[in-house]
Amino acid sequence: MKRAPLALLVLLLLLVGVLVVRTLRFGSRQVPAEPAEPFSVDATGAADRLAGALRHHTVAASDGTPAEDAAFRALHAQLVAGFPLVHAQLGHEVVGEHSHLYTWKGTEPDLHPVLLMGHLDVVPAEAEATWSHPPYGGVVADGYIHGRGALDDKGSVLAILEAVEGLLAQGYRPRRTVLLAFGADEEVRGRDGAVLVAELLRKRGVRLESVLDEGGPIGVGLVPGVDAPVALVGVAEKGYGRVELVVRGAGGHASMPPRQTGAGILARALVKLEEHPFEPELRGGTRALFEHVGPEMGFGMRLLFANTWLFSPLLVRRMATVPSTDASIRTTLAATMLEGSPKPNVLPAQARAVLNVRPLPGDSLEDVRTHVREVVDDARVEVTAEGDEASPVSPTDTEAWKQLQRSIRQVFPDVLVAPFLTVAATDARHFHPLSDSVYRFMPVRMTREDLTRMHGRDERLSVTAHAAAIRFYAQYLRNITR
Ligand SMILES: [Zn+2]
Repeated sequence: MKRAPLALLVLLLLLVGVLVVRTLRFGSRQVPAEPAEPFSVDATGAADRLAGALRHHTVAASDGTPAEDAAFRALHAQLVAGFPLVHAQLGHEVVGEHSHLYTWKGTEPDLHPVLLMGHLDVVPAEAEATWSHPPYGGVVADGYIHGRGALDDKGSVLAILEAVEGLLAQGYRPRRTVLLAFGADEEVRGRDGAVLVAELLRKRGVRLESVLDEGGPIGVGLVPGVDAPVALVGVAEKGYGRVELVVRGAGGHASMPPRQTGAGILARALVKLEEHPFEPELRGGTRALFEHVGPEMGFGMRLLFANTWLFSPLLVRRMATVPSTDASIRTTLAATMLEGSPKPNVLPAQARAVLNVRPLPGDSLEDVRTHVREVVDDARVEVTAEGDEASPVSPTDTEAWKQLQRSIRQVFPDVLVAPFLTVAATDARHFHPLSDSVYRFMPVRMTREDLTRMHGRDERLSVTAHAAAIRFYAQYLRNITR
């Protein structure tokens, strides 16, 4: 009789031992980095150049809005004038209508080039009158550069150009070729920009060492349980698509309805889908995030993250309670458009629902369609799915990752670096076929409040943050090209 409790106790001790040993072995993934090399930045001049770029109303053409051709041309003319060395010494091609590809030839043409990206288009500014400074005014005041695009993404484009211009002025010559691609339609899915650039490079047989696009910021207070700012480098992004459910019926007069109308059948399908979401799982970049920030936390949290083999159900349940974290652990579906009969007394001949779907890396659109059909389980509901697949997950054990992590730590020594899953779509996804190492990062400190300014009101970037971003790009370019 005494043996069973004893065996249980031994097992328990063994388990605790395993958990503790794994926790103690769960060491930091941060790399030590020497201070950044000196690089002088003309912060005032750079702020003025960015402010100038914000004055061009480069809203990407989309359904219902005309293309801002003159604005895109004027912006480019300003860049040509503002960055004379870049435009004298780098190869330049216009791709599509208003996207640009620059080539800074390396001294060793056999090395695979690196690509730095950004985009010149912006989302429209709503309620312009409520902004503290006019969104297209390009005002520098109170230490900030104000306007639509200051963060997303003219800030990055200008910082990259400032860094290259500065390196050229120093006579720096990269061993590896550097490509710069600036799209003109990222906010409307990149069909006339990044897609064409990727296609052009593919036709030329270019294999890229690494790609760096806009992405996660240096999050200040964004990662619970970690006091230090965390550079959130997107290693993957979710897909983006639409699922359509259609129920076809006979239509007819609503005075003698059948037991189930097309609208009712469709409504049942939507309820089932909300009640049976996709299974949550720590993958697609989210597990890697915990592996990098976990070791920096207190003992209790470290124990949790060091033993995800045991605790991941607990973690997943916790994350599932908040929409923003829930989106990082599963494929999400959201019903957005509904259509039935156009008349109050006519049965719908066709009832239709559109759901926005964001597949987690690892789930294909075909998997989504299968899931929807199985959950709905009703042959009267036709299901189609289309869109962009989720990206692959870029590795964090390569030289390209190491150099990126090192550059961040050199310029921002107090910052931890962690991979994560980008929930929004970026132009970078088009480049996965050309490179194993595609990363998404914005070298700017941001709080939760700052994040709302992107695509929101009062977008701005501080003059010092812009200068730091320029230093980051200069250091990163040096690290990856020599
Ligand atoms: Zn953007």
